[in-house]
Amino acid sequence: MSASAASGKFATAQAVLTIDLAALVANWRAMAAACAPAECGAVVKANAYGTGLEPAVRALSAAGCATFFVANPGEAARARAALGPSPGRIYALNGLASPDAALALAACDAHAVIGSLEEWRTWLAQAPGKPCAAHIDTGMNRLGMSAQEAQAVAADPQAGVIDLVMSHFVASEEGGNALNDAQIAAFDAVRPLFPHARASMANSSGVLLAQRPHYDLTRPGYALYGGNPLPGLPNPMRAVVRLEAPMLRVRHAPAGATVGYNATWTAQRDSVLAVIGVGYADGLLRSASGSHSHAGGEAIVGGVRCPIVGRVSMDLTVIDATDAPQGFVHPGAMVEILGETITVDDLAARAGTIGYEILTSLGARYHRVYVG
Ligand SMILES: *Cc1c(COP(=O)(O)O)cnc(C)c1O
Repeated sequence: MSASAASGKFATAQAVLTIDLAALVANWRAMAAACAPAECGAVVKANAYGTGLEPAVRALSAAGCATFFVANPGEAARARAALGPSPGRIYALNGLASPDAALALAACDAHAVIGSLEEWRTWLAQAPGKPCAAHIDTGMNRLGMSAQEAQAVAADPQAGVIDLVMSHFVASEEGGNALNDAQIAAFDAVRPLFPHARASMANSSGVLLAQRPHYDLTRPGYALYGGNPLPGLPNPMRAVVRLEAPMLRVRHAPAGATVGYNATWTAQRDSVLAVIGVGYADGLLRSASGSHSHAGGEAIVGGVRCPIVGRVSMDLTVIDATDAPQGFVHPGAMVEILGETITVDDLAARAGTIGYEILTSLGARYHRVYVG
């Protein structure tokens, strides 16, 4: 960590979120190698999964990534500004529901991802001649057009503006799920309607499917940010986020003392408790609380995994540091909440959610440090 980061951390006694842009780029290169010769894009929606859209776009663009996917026009404008004079295609996945979406996308040279006949007509009227993508629904039943709608769009004399035909997997992290083959077959049935468009189907897990549904362009997100695209198997990606927080207070609690709101945890022995200034308002989910009936999240103190005890509250969380080397237990000592050891997938499992939610919940109060 740089000297300025360290002084910032001690000056503010704040939790520090370190984002490793070299790991992000290494993960993108690994995904690109896995899907070659198809082009590997990058999904940077939701503030690049909580890590910061602008730094992610700049780092990935410098590494050679040329296609970015965002959710909405606001994110598209941010991605375009981050690219500056660098070239880069931007696709906005969520369509054109808001009345100014088409104009806003056209203004930053972003491509709409069209999911219905109605959106198609809006795009032609408001962004004539501008390129866009056709999103085909193959089973998700969220966005995307039916095969019938796709036929109508393809028959339009202006269908040449469609430069990408895409669909999205329902369960690509389950390699053996028959839905994957069904969706690939449904996509292959519609794709020829757009003979001049490139095709795209694979998210992170999709890139690693045995069927190799890479087509011309892939759309990994989660894996770029260090998430495991192969649940249940070792994570091939590098950790991108590290979250550390200083102990605000250390207390010695006798056996029988309870911790936190509603006294959901009771010390079974004389205990050393470390209080950190991170809570659910920072994205440390309340479901990571630890009680006797339900183990919660953990934090690393001096190399030892220590459990979160009691309820995670808005701004504070308590860790049972009794088993940690006590030289590491004092006000100002740092504990690690996320990193190489406690991965986003690990914390997610303990909080009853998925790593995507851990990442996209990363709070706004952290002192953010970008390295690499
Ligand atoms: C979010 C998203 C992706 C990226 O998915 P990951 O599982 O994060 O790799 C790809 N395509 C679409 C349409 C998405 O919404």
